[in-house]
Amino acid sequence: MSKPIPFDLSKATELLDEYGSPLYVYDEKGIRENARELKTAFEWAKGYKNYFAVKATPTPIILSILHEEGMGFDCSSKAELEMVKRIGVPGEDIIFTSNNTAKEDFELAIELGATVNIDDLTQVDVFMEALGDKTLRRACVRFNPGNELGGNELIGLPADAKYGMRKDQLPEAYKKMSAANIESFGIHTMVVSNMLESEYFAKTAQLLLDAKELVEEGAGIKIASLNLGGGVGIPYDGEDPFNLKELSDQLQKVLKSTDTDLHTEYGRWVTGPHGYLLTKVRYVMEKHKSYIGVDASMHNLMRPGMYGAYHHITVLGKSDNGSKNYDVVGSLCENNDKFAIDRALPDVEPGDIMVMHDVGAHGHAMGFNYNGLLRSAEVLLKADGTSELMRRAETLDDYFATLVW
Ligand SMILES: *Cc1c(COP(=O)(O)O)cnc(C)c1O
Repeated sequence: MSKPIPFDLSKATELLDEYGSPLYVYDEKGIRENARELKTAFEWAKGYKNYFAVKATPTPIILSILHEEGMGFDCSSKAELEMVKRIGVPGEDIIFTSNNTAKEDFELAIELGATVNIDDLTQVDVFMEALGDKTLRRACVRFNPGNELGGNELIGLPADAKYGMRKDQLPEAYKKMSAANIESFGIHTMVVSNMLESEYFAKTAQLLLDAKELVEEGAGIKIASLNLGGGVGIPYDGEDPFNLKELSDQLQKVLKSTDTDLHTEYGRWVTGPHGYLLTKVRYVMEKHKSYIGVDASMHNLMRPGMYGAYHHITVLGKSDNGSKNYDVVGSLCENNDKFAIDRALPDVEPGDIMVMHDVGAHGHAMGFNYNGLLRSAEVLLKADGTSELMRRAETLDDYFATLVW
């Protein structure tokens, strides 16, 4: 299997010389193309907007590009709300979906005029207290269809998931909120992650539509928007790519008789394939198994260690057809600090540049500092071939900044 890369060996060498190794590189052209493809696919849908899940790639320059392309943002925390506020995103383009939510987080979301999406009955009350006699443009409730739907590996069965209210709890939630100054209501659900089959989303849309009817009858309010959340997958391991056209056609069928707006929160699908982690080979080691040690570690990319996730690896300047199997490892004191296990790779030498593919979402964002390891810089590769620093690498001073000596 080979996967395309929007730069060559000399460009990668130049980038690492300029910004340091390891390095995250994002392809602006690819990200913009995906944003446009999404918009085109859902042209038929009334009020369609994708609220990009900020947690996937919380990097302001990328978020600004997506806002230019017409996207809104799904924020899950105060930091994410503050980030989109600082890049000038208006409240109508923000959804605040959190769970186990602190009152002060509701307060900030309300202050920004975001759509507040509520996860549980307990938090309806707290949200109402935070709102007081202020007016909010839209509130939303997260629905969990439980056993009405199967799940998948990454997010588990809906009935086991901590997110969202049961169907029987929904009317009460909206009835309570109908006493406040809320101008309109939406309903939300998200039950899968990295799903490559479109029928699953069509089934979810049908369940959401059923829930909407129950709520409208039971609470005497009108639902103005259906939000299908995120969860559209990307072919990490060379699977067939997600068929957006098929999803769009199926949703159009399910939603044909409703006049509600359609919203989604796709994160991974938008930026995932257009981020690359560049890392240099430090050592090739023969132990009980053969290892390639690189200068990135699991703290730069947690998905393989956390989920056993596959990320394709290319060695720049060498053929993709490997002759021998290696584990590709970082330097964290954790044996699951492996980017690949028993992966057939070409013969490499110290100094070779490896590229980990499909890290543009839930990649750098999931980084951490265990073992005192520092997070890398993030760079944007622009359409004209130039590059722009979007986040510098962390330094030891950053790591020590919160300590009391
Ligand atoms: C994580 C998340 C998303 C984005 O999921 P992707 O897999 O990146 O599409 C969207 N909405 C909510 C509420 C989420 O928690």
